[in-house]
Amino acid sequence: MTGGAGFLGSHLCERLLAQGHEVLCVDNFFTGGKRNVLPLLPNPRFELMRHDVTFPLYVEVDAIYNLACPASPIHYQHDPVQTTKTSVHGAINMLGLAKRTKARILQASTSEVYGDPEVHPQPESYWGRVNPVGLRSCYDEGKRCAETLFFDYHRQHRLRIKVMRIFNTYGPRMHPNDGRVVSNFIVQALRGEPLTIYGDGSQTRSFCYVDDLIDAMVALMDSEDAVIGPMNVGNPTEFTMLELARTVLALTGSRSTLEFRPLPSDDPKQRRPDIALATETLGWQPQVTLEEGLAKTIGYFRTIVSQ
Ligand code: NAD
Ligand code: UDP
Ligand code: UDP
Repeated sequence: MTGGAGFLGSHLCERLLAQGHEVLCVDNFFTGGKRNVLPLLPNPRFELMRHDVTFPLYVEVDAIYNLACPASPIHYQHDPVQTTKTSVHGAINMLGLAKRTKARILQASTSEVYGDPEVHPQPESYWGRVNPVGLRSCYDEGKRCAETLFFDYHRQHRLRIKVMRIFNTYGPRMHPNDGRVVSNFIVQALRGEPLTIYGDGSQTRSFCYVDDLIDAMVALMDSEDAVIGPMNVGNPTEFTMLELARTVLALTGSRSTLEFRPLPSDDPKQRRPDIALATETLGWQPQVTLEEGLAKTIGYFRTIVSQ
């Protein structure tokens, strides 16, 4: 697994070990860290390797989960050239590895491939509306190019690929300073600081709890070879950022106020996955409600945030 020491990766490592697999976790620790996988280190079936996926990697594996890539706007815009290299060179190297070892390979793609969408909710057949030269482009276009590479390696070299388009996901081990809305609101609420709402807070998102996401990721990897995607995975319950702020305030019991800030450029106005394909193909649908998932996430942040 690449990016295995990150938020989603660490949960996936844990799940695969629990299923009895051997896991090689490859990560350059840019946004992830050893702390996320610390409890896994004593397990003899777990191996942690510091490596940057923009460089070739020669190891023996039978399945590859390619998650390496900073995912939050603050982190992926910190060094945008490296972000595109991670998506594109990283995909080429991991596809080369899959080609040599004949491994199945799953790409952690993203709802960002739809950009600021005109079709709502977004089905996989929608080609998206992405600015090729904006601040988010390093991430959006990098991920789009990675999807292209996956499909061309599939057509040209008959690789067994799985492309999963992940919609906003949250849960324990999100980075407290990565600027994503769920972690920001929870940390701000716990510290009694104002919750920062970008724009007027009317933009929508649909948030999936991490355990549901990992269920779908493992099910997609284990699906038959004909199932290649792209496949949306996320929770279709949609709400505004203002509603999210109020829910976080209610669940934390915080008396923080709301503070309105300018909307970042190219910020999508709405986003909700059409998950019919995942439901029909994998028999999957999310089980955890926003309130349940937020309560668990708040519990985690209480242990790491000084109040
Ligand atoms: P994260 O930032 O916590 O994890 C990414 C991991 O990749 C980190 O451990 C980081 O150190 C590692 N990494 C970055 N560049 C690397 C490189 N060049 N070589 C090796 N490792 C590198 O983010 P996450 O939320 O866990 O996201 C994991 C994957 O899922 C990413 O590919 C992301 O684009 C995708 N995704 C996540 C979400 C979400 O809501 N969390 C939504 C859509 C897609
Ligand atoms: N690669 C790798 N590990 C492997 C095999 C390949 O990292 O086990 C990398 C290598 O850098 C190569 C890239 O993947 O350039 C693409 O591999 P492919 O076989 O498609 O292309 P080629 O070797 O012809 O460049
Ligand atoms: N957002 C916000 N306050 C914050 C952080 C984010 O209102 O402190 C908004 C952001 O502008 C976007 C939404 O919340 O409209 C989701 O942002 P996030 O960065 O979590 O994910 P993405 O934009 O990639 O979906």
